[in-house]
Amino acid sequence: MPEPSQTPLEQHNIPLLERIDFVTVKLPFVHPFGTSVQTWTHKEALLLRLESGGYVAWSECVADPDPFYLSETTSTVRHIMRDFLLPLIEPGATIGEVMQKFRHVRGHEMAKATVENALLVWFALQRGVALHALLGWPAKKIMSGISIGLRDTQTELLDAVESAVAKKYHRVKMKIMKGKDVEWVRAVRERFPDLQLMVDANGDYTLDDAAHLQKLDAFALTMIEQPLSYSDIYQHALLQDRLRTPLCLDESLHTFDDVTTAIALDACRVINIKQGRVGGLLESIRIARYAMEHGIGVWSGGMDETGIGRAVNIHLQTADGFSLPGDTSETLNYFTEDIVEQPVVLDRHGFIDVPPGPGLGITVDPQLLMKYMIHSERVR
Ligand SMILES: [Mg+2]
Repeated sequence: MPEPSQTPLEQHNIPLLERIDFVTVKLPFVHPFGTSVQTWTHKEALLLRLESGGYVAWSECVADPDPFYLSETTSTVRHIMRDFLLPLIEPGATIGEVMQKFRHVRGHEMAKATVENALLVWFALQRGVALHALLGWPAKKIMSGISIGLRDTQTELLDAVESAVAKKYHRVKMKIMKGKDVEWVRAVRERFPDLQLMVDANGDYTLDDAAHLQKLDAFALTMIEQPLSYSDIYQHALLQDRLRTPLCLDESLHTFDDVTTAIALDACRVINIKQGRVGGLLESIRIARYAMEHGIGVWSGGMDETGIGRAVNIHLQTADGFSLPGDTSETLNYFTEDIVEQPVVLDRHGFIDVPPGPGLGITVDPQLLMKYMIHSERVR
């Protein structure tokens, strides 16, 4: 597949980066976030702060401190950014040229996305425009979606779904795992017959479970996300052939090439684009356009981000192709206190406004940043 030519967006020139910092924050979750692979009680987020010409751009890395969701961690991202990616950035080069150089580093999409995000936010601030406008999309209201982690009892799960429905979330995702699947989905579906409901297994099943997973076809789910291995595409195609419910891939798609493979094999009918997982906003937009051209639904996945990463996902969802509600939910669903001054809230119809103003449209609160900071490193 030939490399795409540079878009006008990719022709912005990189400034001299006067100061670069890595800041790690750790915020307690309102509820522990349980998945089939791990339960997290805190959000530990690595932030990148770039300063140049009086403009300060923040970005948030989506990696966890552990390698249980995917292989990158906050420690590997610090290493790859400090020792390999940041040294490739030369003042005067275009962002497109820098992203081409980043291809020399294999993998490490979360690290690449963190740097790319910060550069794009800096360009938006310097030009006095919102990030979505820099990316080429007008502001619009974003659909909301909530991801409900595994709960100890079905009553707790039903209570969580009940409050999401009351808030008018456009879709509800529930995590499932072996032993907490068919009967738990049945309980939710019986109580909420019209709800846009989907499930996410985070890779807990194998193809041997196909007959069991077929039982989920009875519940009119909008999709089943990543039922099989985090690294598989082909077996998902075999499973999709045996299910009526659309499959959605998350963990196993890291690049545009992965997406073309998945679509060619009919391994999924929906794609979860986590901009951090696929190497950044530019690659996300490219994937969304390709998926749209192939009749594949796309939505923006979340990684329980702080207000910085949450804002990036909101801006991204103004782009063409993001046709389905994603994982973007209210800040209060995760944190009682965030490090940015503008919490994400739903309007009375469940929509989310793009934060107004230049860049991400959010302000990092210095006091809250200090309160939750557990590590900082001045790189330059
Ligand atoms: Mg997922």
